[in-house]
Amino acid sequence: MTFAEYIWLDGSDPVQELRSKTRTVRLKTDTPKPRDFPDWSFDGTATGQADCRYSDCALTPVCVVSDPTWDDPTWDGEHYLVLCEVFNADGTKHVTNTRGDLRSILRAGAEGADAWIGFEQEYTLFRDGRPLGFPKDGLPEPQGRYYCSVGADRAYGRKIARKHAELCQKAGLMFHGLNAESLPGQWEFQIGYRGNDGEDPSLLNAADHLWLARYLLHRVAEEYGVLVSLDNKPVQGNWHGAGMHANFSTRQMREDNGLTAIHDAVELLSRYHGQHIAVYGDRLAERLTGQHETCAITEFRVGNADRGASIRIPLDVEQRGAGYFEDRRPGANADPYRVAARIAETVCMIDTG
Ligand code: ADP
Ligand code: MN
Ligand code: MN
Ligand code: MN
Ligand code: MN
Repeated sequence: MTFAEYIWLDGSDPVQELRSKTRTVRLKTDTPKPRDFPDWSFDGTATGQADCRYSDCALTPVCVVSDPTWDDPTWDGEHYLVLCEVFNADGTKHVTNTRGDLRSILRAGAEGADAWIGFEQEYTLFRDGRPLGFPKDGLPEPQGRYYCSVGADRAYGRKIARKHAELCQKAGLMFHGLNAESLPGQWEFQIGYRGNDGEDPSLLNAADHLWLARYLLHRVAEEYGVLVSLDNKPVQGNWHGAGMHANFSTRQMREDNGLTAIHDAVELLSRYHGQHIAVYGDRLAERLTGQHETCAITEFRVGNADRGASIRIPLDVEQRGAGYFEDRRPGANADPYRVAARIAETVCMIDTG
């Protein structure tokens, strides 16, 4: 017997949360695909996804990786994390199923662009209502010493960040790296594109991996009695917010003269700024103030190597003349399916002419 952890996005508003439940499955293969796992259902009234008269919602597996959280060394079966899409009882896509919306956009034509994405997920670890490293009363030393720091008086929560990296690696996620961030108890990890042969950094797969990595992060922090906050502005005042930069490329951008395609994409993004901002995270205005390495929410600015821009073209991309761009606007609590869908729709499906 094998344990499978079925994971899905719930109906919490305005920020969808993760839910999961465990079951045993009997698999006929050692290398199972999503369709080797049975569909399942759950009580949608308890997750904000149904009213009680017609409460069942259906789970359809869409992405499967190893579950590294079981640590019984004598167990000979594999265990799996099974990410699912949610459907209504009549088989139609549930309104909370944002992955299904991304699928539709890809199928409608964006797929041909062969787009890749890599996310930088920032998060803040909380205990007793304050970030790790914040004193019980008053404030810690001003920010400046915490980013990429080392030392017990400035890097707080490394055990969790490291354990998370290890679990992502064991699960087979496209985990890239991690660093301490600008306020105490704040960290970042990168997931998605990392340039390895045989990996699939397509929009669906990379966004799936980010949701699975978020799931594992909550699980690790749970063991320590610590909360993971994806708030865009976890501490008010002169402190950095938390973002989810999205690094995006199409085949055209990665090939010779890709910079032209990148500039075309940025021009399109500038026209639809408002529509992007609308799905780039809850209470985003608190983070996109024009300070703390952000561009004000009401402005759209592109910059070379500029961390105060909406869109940054990294220095090495400018020098190589090809590569990708970084959309710095998405907040830490953004849904990667929605972010990827908006960028793909704007960049891959609208004609620049
Ligand atoms: P920074 O902190 O300087 O913004 P990071 O190294 O944290 O940069 O993140 C940059 C991310 O860009 C990498 O994690 C990677 O996933 C992504 N990336 C690199 N090349 C491409 C590409 N061609 N297409 C999409 N994403 C890319
Ligand atoms: Mn029951
Ligand atoms: Mn980064
Ligand atoms: Mn960062
Ligand atoms: Mn970045």
